[in-house]
Amino acid sequence: MKTEAIGQGRVKKKEVAVGAGALILLLLVAFAFAKKKEYECRYCDATFKTKAELIAHIEAEHPAEIKTIYEIADEVNRELGGSYVAGVLTPPAWWTGSVTEWSRHVQAIAWERYYQQFAPTP
Ligand SMILES: [Zn+2]
Repeated sequence: MKTEAIGQGRVKKKEVAVGAGALILLLLVAFAFAKKKEYECRYCDATFKTKAELIAHIEAEHPAEIKTIYEIADEVNRELGGSYVAGVLTPPAWWTGSVTEWSRHVQAIAWERYYQQFAPTP
């Protein structure tokens, strides 16, 4: 009876040791993953913890490297067949929605392209 109790105690201690080992391994993996997730500037060696910090850095330090949202929106509008003549935005003939809806459509695509400029070098 007594030896059996000791034996069980040993098993429990082993389980705790395995559990702690697994926890340490998990922490190491999480740490490596967190370190890898740093945001690197594609124009210099700077790295940032958040994407927002990276974007602020590129906008402030490398403005010549990126297009403005206005430039991109203009490009998208023209690419899709819209025009912008004398300050008047005109959707392409195939567009069935309103001009406001066209503007929103173009801007949504433009913002997507704008943020692609901050992605790491492909
Ligand atoms: Zn930079």
